[in-house]
Amino acid sequence: MGEQHVSLQIDENNNVTKVGTQLELFPTPVNAGIYEECILCGVETTTLKTTHVDFRTGYIEGAGQLCRECYMKGSSEGREHISIPKHYIKTYSNDMELGREIRKYYYQNY
Ligand SMILES: [Zn+2]
Repeated sequence: MGEQHVSLQIDENNNVTKVGTQLELFPTPVNAGIYEECILCGVETTTLKTTHVDFRTGYIEGAGQLCRECYMKGSSEGREHISIPKHYIKTYSNDMELGREIRKYYYQNY
Protein backbone atom coordinates (compact mmCIF):
# COMPACT_ATOMS: atom_id res chain seq x y z
CA MET A 1 0.00 0.00 0.00
CA GLY A 2 1.86 3.06 -1.18
CA GLU A 3 0.94 6.61 -0.45
CA GLN A 4 -0.82 8.54 -3.11
CA HIS A 5 0.49 11.96 -3.94
CA VAL A 6 -1.58 14.61 -5.59
CA SER A 7 -0.06 17.78 -6.84
CA LEU A 8 -1.59 21.01 -5.60
CA GLN A 9 -1.40 24.38 -7.21
CA ILE A 10 -1.37 27.10 -4.58
CA ASP A 11 -1.68 30.80 -5.20
CA GLU A 12 0.05 33.65 -3.37
CA ASN A 13 -2.64 33.63 -0.63
CA ASN A 14 -2.05 29.95 0.05
CA ASN A 15 -5.36 28.97 -1.48
CA VAL A 16 -5.46 25.74 -3.45
CA THR A 17 -6.43 26.63 -6.97
CA LYS A 18 -5.92 23.27 -8.61
CA VAL A 19 -5.77 19.68 -7.43
CA GLY A 20 -3.83 17.16 -9.44
CA THR A 21 -2.93 17.50 -13.06
CA GLN A 22 -5.56 15.38 -14.78
CA LEU A 23 -8.44 15.71 -12.39
CA GLU A 24 -11.56 16.40 -14.33
CA LEU A 25 -14.70 16.77 -12.25
CA PHE A 26 -17.03 16.87 -15.23
CA PRO A 27 -15.38 14.96 -18.03
CA THR A 28 -16.87 15.77 -21.38
CA PRO A 29 -17.24 13.32 -24.24
CA VAL A 30 -15.25 14.15 -27.34
CA ASN A 31 -18.21 15.31 -29.41
CA ALA A 32 -20.14 17.00 -26.62
CA GLY A 33 -21.65 20.28 -27.48
CA ILE A 34 -21.69 20.00 -31.24
CA TYR A 35 -25.24 18.76 -31.73
CA GLU A 36 -28.43 19.83 -30.01
CA GLU A 37 -30.15 17.36 -27.72
CA CYS A 38 -33.85 16.64 -28.04
CA ILE A 39 -35.79 18.51 -25.34
CA LEU A 40 -38.24 15.63 -25.05
CA CYS A 41 -36.29 12.37 -25.19
CA GLY A 42 -32.75 13.67 -24.74
CA VAL A 43 -31.16 11.95 -27.73
CA GLU A 44 -28.58 13.79 -29.73
CA THR A 45 -30.22 15.30 -32.79
CA THR A 46 -28.63 15.83 -36.17
CA THR A 47 -28.97 19.58 -35.75
CA LEU A 48 -25.75 21.45 -35.14
CA LYS A 49 -25.90 23.93 -32.29
CA THR A 50 -24.45 26.45 -34.65
CA THR A 51 -27.39 26.15 -37.05
CA HIS A 52 -29.54 29.26 -36.97
CA VAL A 53 -33.05 28.51 -35.68
CA ASP A 54 -34.58 29.86 -38.88
CA PHE A 55 -32.96 27.00 -40.80
CA ARG A 56 -33.80 24.19 -38.42
CA THR A 57 -36.43 21.47 -38.56
CA GLY A 58 -38.12 20.54 -35.30
CA TYR A 59 -37.19 23.66 -33.44
CA ILE A 60 -39.96 24.85 -31.14
CA GLU A 61 -39.63 28.49 -30.27
CA GLY A 62 -39.47 29.02 -26.53
CA ALA A 63 -38.84 25.34 -25.91
CA GLY A 64 -35.96 24.10 -27.99
CA GLN A 65 -34.88 21.45 -30.44
CA LEU A 66 -36.75 18.20 -31.03
CA CYS A 67 -35.29 15.13 -32.66
CA ARG A 68 -36.91 14.04 -35.90
CA GLU A 69 -38.84 11.24 -34.21
CA CYS A 70 -40.35 13.45 -31.51
CA TYR A 71 -41.06 16.16 -34.02
CA MET A 72 -42.98 13.78 -36.27
CA LYS A 73 -45.00 12.23 -33.43
CA GLY A 74 -47.78 14.71 -33.55
CA SER A 75 -49.41 16.47 -36.43
CA SER A 76 -49.10 20.24 -36.34
CA GLU A 77 -52.56 20.19 -34.80
CA GLY A 78 -51.41 17.70 -32.19
CA ARG A 79 -48.72 20.10 -31.09
CA GLU A 80 -51.35 22.77 -30.55
CA HIS A 81 -52.61 21.03 -27.41
CA ILE A 82 -52.07 22.42 -23.97
CA SER A 83 -51.70 20.54 -20.71
CA ILE A 84 -53.02 21.52 -17.32
CA PRO A 85 -52.01 20.42 -13.82
CA LYS A 86 -53.83 17.21 -12.85
CA HIS A 87 -55.05 18.64 -9.56
CA TYR A 88 -57.32 21.06 -11.45
CA ILE A 89 -59.76 18.21 -12.06
CA LYS A 90 -60.20 17.55 -8.33
CA THR A 91 -59.65 21.08 -7.06
CA TYR A 92 -62.41 22.59 -9.23
CA SER A 93 -65.35 20.24 -8.87
CA ASN A 94 -67.72 22.65 -10.55
CA ASP A 95 -67.47 22.25 -14.34
CA MET A 96 -67.98 25.93 -14.99
CA GLU A 97 -65.33 26.84 -12.45
CA LEU A 98 -62.98 24.25 -13.97
CA GLY A 99 -63.51 25.77 -17.39
CA ARG A 100 -62.82 29.24 -16.08
CA GLU A 101 -59.63 28.11 -14.34
CA ILE A 102 -58.39 26.26 -17.44
CA ARG A 103 -59.02 29.36 -19.52
CA LYS A 104 -57.17 31.47 -16.97
CA TYR A 105 -54.29 28.98 -16.98
CA TYR A 106 -54.19 29.09 -20.75
CA TYR A 107 -53.93 32.86 -20.90
CA GLN A 108 -51.27 32.90 -18.18
CA ASN A 109 -49.10 30.18 -19.68
CA TYR A 110 -49.62 30.07 -23.42
ZN1 LIG B 1 -36.71 13.20 -29.20
